Amino acid sequence: MSDTRPYETYLWSPERKEYENVEIPDDIECVFCAQSKNDERVTKLSVFEDDFLMVVLNIFPYNTGHLMVVPKKHVNSLVELNDEERNRLFAMVQRVEEIQREVKDPAGINVGINFGKAAGESIQHLHVQVVPIYEKDRGFMETALDTKVMKESLEQVRENYLDRKDILEGYWD
Ligand SMILES: [Zn+2]
Repeated sequence: MSDTRPYETYLWSPERKEYENVEIPDDIECVFCAQSKNDERVTKLSVFEDDFLMVVLNIFPYNTGHLMVVPKKHVNSLVELNDEERNRLFAMVQRVEEIQREVKDPAGINVGINFGKAAGESIQHLHVQVVPIYEKDRGFMETALDTKVMKESLEQVRENYLDRKDILEGYWD
């Protein structure tokens, strides 16, 4: 599964805003580095951030509530993190699991990292995907038409997560 845009088309039941068809400018080398520097040319929907990492919504989600935990340092392998950085990253992944269970009440959760294009990686900057899975997720539109029906807007999902931001805070105290 590719990690930029898993579906050909998205159908947003609620209204979708200007990031509908986001084109990344050519001179942006890394979307996550641009997001971490608050480059206004890239959309950033963050739920939490500090000096080490950010938790952001995937703009092309596999599913409603898809979050990514991204270290701000530009690395593309776990090997490039020192022990503390690795522990800190996964301490946040644990909190993200918790906030998803709390806010989205999924039937299951997929956690994953793609290393290398052969593995489906499209942004060469380490990120851990945390994807809630719901019962009866794939209907006709998804299976036959490669179209994902989204029942909540990204902004709404973000608001719901922000209401429980307390779960993410203090992940590394
Ligand atoms: Zn980067």
